[in-house]
Formats: sequence, structure tokens, C-alpha cells
Amino acid sequence: MNCPEFRDKTHEHLRGNLPRGEEVELKAHAEECSECSDFTSTCSELTCKEFVDFLHSFIDGELAKERATVFDRHLSVCPDCTAYLESYRRTMELSVLAMTDLSVSEKIPEELVLAVLNAQKQGE
Ligand SMILES: [Zn+2]
Ligand SMILES: [Zn+2]
Repeated sequence: MNCPEFRDKTHEHLRGNLPRGEEVELKAHAEECSECSDFTSTCSELTCKEFVDFLHSFIDGELAKERATVFDRHLSVCPDCTAYLESYRRTMELSVLAMTDLSVSEKIPEELVLAVLNAQKQGE
């Protein structure tokens, strides 16, 4: 079993979908791979589903301190949730950017008018 497989199966396991017998393989891998055993203990402390559920409060800084620590720990071992957080942040940034763009384009005509006026003054 390799590490990505291990993570997939751990998710299955947490959802209760893991076929009987594969738990043994999971345990065997966790014993020889410290990264994956960290992953397992972190995932049982906060599952990926909970991570997604609380993500909004986490970003808003509304999460209790202990909870935020668990979040950070989950992020440090779970590439899936790191990727999810990244794309979530990017979406937020994009929407902020879209709002900023609007206010910028509202400013442009004023500046353009001034520039045109200045150019006309210099031409006289
Ligand atoms: Zn591993
Ligand atoms: Zn996760």
C-alpha cells in the first residue's frame, strides 16, 4: 500500500465504508510510515468532513483556540484539505478582487477626464 492509497482508505474507514480485512493493511502501513500514522491520528481528531464544515469559521477567525490548533494540525498532514483551503481562499480572493475591480473602474473615468483636461490646457 502506498501513502495516497492509505489516505483514501483512511477516509473510507472514517466513513465506515472500508471492507473488512483492509483495516489490517491500514494498521500495517501506519506502523511503518510515521507520516501516515500522524495522518490517522489527526483525521480521527478532526475528520475532513468536519474540517469543511468549520472552514468558514476558521477563516473568519471565529474558531476557539483549541479547535484552530486542531485545524492547523489537520492541514499539516492532509493534502486534500490543504488543497481545498487553497481553492476556497482563491475563490474568496477572486470575489474580493472583482469588487476591487469595480471600484477601480469607477475611478478611471474621473482620472481620464482630468488627463484629457490637462492635455487640452497644455494644447492651448
Ligand atoms: Zn504512508
Ligand atoms: Zn482532511
